Amino acid sequence: MDESVFQAFLPELVDIRRRLHQMPETGYEERQTSALVADLLEGWGLTVTRGFAATGFVATLDRGGDRAIGLRADMDGLPIVEETGAAYASRMPGMMHACGHDGHTTMLIGAAFRLLHDDDFRGKAHFIFQPAEETAGGAARMMEEGLFERFPCDAVFALHNYPGLAAGRFSARPGAMMAAIDAATLTVRGTGGHGARPEDTVDPIVTAASIVMALQTAVSRNVPPQEAGVITVGAFHAGSACNVIPDEAVLEISLRATDPVVRSRLCRRFEEIARLQAESFGAEVSIDWQVGYPVTMNDAAAIDLATSVIRDVFGEDAFEPLDRPMMGSEDFAFMLEKVKGAYLFIGNGDSAGLHNSRYDFNDMLLERGPVFLHALARRFFA
Ligand SMILES: [Zn+2]
Ligand SMILES: [Zn+2]
Repeated sequence: MDESVFQAFLPELVDIRRRLHQMPETGYEERQTSALVADLLEGWGLTVTRGFAATGFVATLDRGGDRAIGLRADMDGLPIVEETGAAYASRMPGMMHACGHDGHTTMLIGAAFRLLHDDDFRGKAHFIFQPAEETAGGAARMMEEGLFERFPCDAVFALHNYPGLAAGRFSARPGAMMAAIDAATLTVRGTGGHGARPEDTVDPIVTAASIVMALQTAVSRNVPPQEAGVITVGAFHAGSACNVIPDEAVLEISLRATDPVVRSRLCRRFEEIARLQAESFGAEVSIDWQVGYPVTMNDAAAIDLATSVIRDVFGEDAFEPLDRPMMGSEDFAFMLEKVKGAYLFIGNGDSAGLHNSRYDFNDMLLERGPVFLHALARRFFA
């Protein structure tokens, strides 16, 4: 393609990113964001299918052939008060694009622009704009609503910016890239009473404290040392006064693993430890599971394809292999369970961390991200 056409479009792309930054919308509320982007791509002549998972949509560029590539961006913001001081800071009170999804959305717009203006491009590209990545699993909901049945893809790819990695540098690994996450609310029910008469009670605080300590062995004694797992008790609520033994204690727990077998084993051990510890005190437990995201599993061939493109287009140094999976999680994992593909980081440079009130997406990536996605799609069909 004529690079001067893209260079001339870049200032507009920066402007789009900053406009999106000013109007962050949280999961399944991305109505204005979705409409702005869908209208733009439709105006360019792409075929746009709206109304997936409430606010998600797919834009298709069809230049023939049987195979298709899926390129995905997430669109949601976070309930954070922005403190960047940027001229284009959020105008939505208490909401912010603190994970760079404004940038991901704009990079995908840039990729669509490049493929559209590439007369030599042959193949079919589905640009998947998904809602609600942060907590509600918008990827899974798009799939429940028939995403890959209506838009079959032979491979799917997604980019996420990564603070601390040099701006524009890429990083990824084959196999597990991000951890699975599940959450559980554990309610320990005992029998409350007077703090002076513990013999007449079943103390849920002592029971829950014992469960917290026993859970510390779940990883060390049940997960092979070569594998990774985390159980974090992030909240412990019980009682109201020093001389009252309450009826119940409530714990909020997150469990993470980088292997599906470890994931199910940790969840099972958590339940066993909680129940049996409680039983030994005469207390009862109930567990309310919030099943989260699976392990983000990159396909080795898809990683090979992506890294060969990165090295050829940007040079040998532009790719930094990731030696270990990250313990964070990502709902693109659902798509990778169904279609082979890869999830890659693109360095955001020396910025504040993700989900920080001072974070901002690095506009430099609006050039390199689309150039990569364009070259990737070309090589996929080559
Ligand atoms: Zn995030
Ligand atoms: Zn994110």
